[in-house]
Amino acid sequence: MQLQDILFSQGFGTRRVCAGLVQQGRVEVSLDGQPFDKCIDSSAEYDPEGLRLLLQGQEWPWCEKAYILLHKPPGTECSQKPSAYPSVYTLLPAPLRQRPTKNAIQGVQAVGRLDQDTTGLLLLSDDGQFIHRMTSPKKHVPKVYEVTTKHPVDARQISKLLKGVVLDDDPTAVKAAGAELIGSHQLKLTLLEGKYHQVKRMLAAVGNRVEQLHRSQIGALELPESLKPGEWMWLGKEHLRDLG
Ligand code: URA
Repeated sequence: MQLQDILFSQGFGTRRVCAGLVQQGRVEVSLDGQPFDKCIDSSAEYDPEGLRLLLQGQEWPWCEKAYILLHKPPGTECSQKPSAYPSVYTLLPAPLRQRPTKNAIQGVQAVGRLDQDTTGLLLLSDDGQFIHRMTSPKKHVPKVYEVTTKHPVDARQISKLLKGVVLDDDPTAVKAAGAELIGSHQLKLTLLEGKYHQVKRMLAAVGNRVEQLHRSQIGALELPESLKPGEWMWLGKEHLRDLG
């Protein structure tokens, strides 16, 4: 694959812009862990598997599809067109937002949404099948939330959350797959679905109220402690395996 096409596939701009970046000597490449080497021939051919790019002072592993974990900070919206708060997409570098897809240049998309005031683990990808799999109601991927409540949580509330509560938009009860008390006003809740405002509505249904909400885990993939709010990381094959 030509170097300009490799850059284009990773979201560095149109083929013309990408050819320009190479010709201006702004691109270095590394194959299979070898040291970086400048390449100024935009039509030079490379096998993209195992290729790393260095440009704008940042290293980029080539990847056919991008899988990203973002530590969502509070006061951000999971929308391309936010209404009141900055979009989570502004926390990502431009190439991730510009990666071309078959139909249009659209970049990575959030895998489901978190409320503006919810923090924690947010997945983003440009792999449509992955997004569909992860958000499908049939898949039942467990999501773990750390919830801080306004009122003390008691055993009766825990038991109701586990047995199931009826929310206002559906007569079928939804139940938590896990509900563990971790403090007088804190619990760890595991859900298998991703209904709109589900945690907040479930806590309201048992007579409590969510003050803070943090997603710490999806499947076996935990939010790394080293990743601070607003920071992101690439996910590799081993992480994707953890997602089931
Ligand atoms: N449940 C909620 O109520 N809000 C979220 O952001 C996620 C789950």
